[in-house]
Amino acid sequence: MQFKVISFYKYIKVKGAEKLRLEVKRSCEKLGLMGRILVSQEGINGAVSGEAAKIETFKNAIRKNKIFSGLTFREQGYQNQTYHKLVVKTRDEIVRFGKKANLKRTGKHISPKNLKAWLDKKQDIILLDARNQYETKIGKFKGAITLPIENFRDFPKASKKLSKFRDKKIVMYCTGGVRCEKASAFLKQEGFKDVYQIQGGIINFVNQYPDTYFEGSCFVFDDRLVSRVSSNKTSKCEICGDECDEILNCFNLDCDKLFVSCKKCQKRMNKTCSEDCKNSKKRRKETNF
Ligand SMILES: [Zn+2]
Ligand SMILES: [Zn+2]
Repeated sequence: MQFKVISFYKYIKVKGAEKLRLEVKRSCEKLGLMGRILVSQEGINGAVSGEAAKIETFKNAIRKNKIFSGLTFREQGYQNQTYHKLVVKTRDEIVRFGKKANLKRTGKHISPKNLKAWLDKKQDIILLDARNQYETKIGKFKGAITLPIENFRDFPKASKKLSKFRDKKIVMYCTGGVRCEKASAFLKQEGFKDVYQIQGGIINFVNQYPDTYFEGSCFVFDDRLVSRVSSNKTSKCEICGDECDEILNCFNLDCDKLFVSCKKCQKRMNKTCSEDCKNSKKRRKETNF
């Protein structure tokens, strides 16, 4: 059976988020889709997995809603469901930023094709990775600047360090684009002059140009944790130093750190990040999915 995982977002004024939430939830349930979708007065943001044909039905269903008629989806094939449950929630924000960002003045979208051309010509640009540090550990665009953040809410504060690039051409990116809409608008508010964002993020870029400028693997927020989008690994096991791109959530619930760990060390350390965590009593439950 062929499965697909798709992600999508749209910032648009939603009247009646709860009604929309129920519609979307019912549609997913009917089609046996799993995943995580957030609905808010500012729009929709989600990712779901399911049988390829059912995913097509879902796409058409959601596009029937006028406000989502032009919705685009980022897609990856997979041999399984990539989520083991369905969560559809309403929230204040579809991605939590905590600061006002004028979404009418976001960074200009640049297509993977145009960005590839810029990079081929070695144009003078700053590539900025807007993701969390644990995501950038296993892969990023060659030469991209990363930020020491654990959470997207920390972006505004961390971006103060970028002030020296205020007059440069900045191309920022995240996994699928939803975070950069806010982060790029925020940078413009802060006086950055020439801000771009990759249309559809890393997923869209590597779908068109694998093994070019994105190096390593891509962190994803589903059961896979890692999507092997290129043929090389750029990261190392944080315990033994072997080449590795497996990300693990430390099984000590008090620690909960995301870290890079090879299969051998996962076994040896009982799926934890340190000797202390190995001996901890509060362990995450094993799940089979
Ligand atoms: Zn190791
Ligand atoms: Zn730990």
